[in-house]
Amino acid sequence: MQVKSAEFVMSNSDVAKCPNNRLPEYAFIGRSNVGKSSLINMLTNKKSLAKTSGRPGKTQLINHFLINKNWYLVDLPGYGYAKVSKSSKKTFQKFITQYFKLREQLVSAFVLVDIRHNPQPIDLEFMQWLGEQAVPFSIIFTKADKLKPNAINNHVEAYKSILLETWEEVPNYFITSSSKDMGKEDVLEYIENLNNNMDLE
Ligand code: GDP
Repeated sequence: MQVKSAEFVMSNSDVAKCPNNRLPEYAFIGRSNVGKSSLINMLTNKKSLAKTSGRPGKTQLINHFLINKNWYLVDLPGYGYAKVSKSSKKTFQKFITQYFKLREQLVSAFVLVDIRHNPQPIDLEFMQWLGEQAVPFSIIFTKADKLKPNAINNHVEAYKSILLETWEEVPNYFITSSSKDMGKEDVLEYIENLNNNMDLE
């Protein structure tokens, strides 16, 4: 898929106020600093559609971007940032859980994880929770340029074996690097296929 247009639509913290025109949408979420803004900018060919983080934990809203006028890319707040206060953590949890529970037009989530790190409990728990809510998701490994090809393989295999302790199958996954434009086509093609399949339904 070629991304020909990408426009910011709205930011809000209330799922009821999200766009209601029923276009399919895909949500991107992960720990603060995982490289989510950079990935969104890579996917949309824009330098600063999603703001790359000066201060992690700052963008605490549901952000809708309209892509090619026919689907939404949703930038969700980063989780797991220690310096966010307890009360704002609670608010965050509430509207994000509401988003995943209520958003019928959500086709799939993408959970971003830094390929260099060992599987983190917060990410594994979040994936578990998505599974319990029956929300389809894929994993996007970010910052693959930071590892040599062999190490990429080893890290992915290690991640898979941890996942297989709780999952029957390894979720779909992508290996990406925003600084090297890697994995872009794979993610966009995946979204395009899902969009096309929905047209057939
Ligand atoms: P966010 O907080 O998840 O939105 O993360 P950002 O996109 O703001 O990125 C966090 C930091 O990681 C920034 O310093 C980025 O330059 C860096 N970063 C993001 N993606 C990549 C990548 O693919 N490769 C490398 N080497 N650095 C990256």
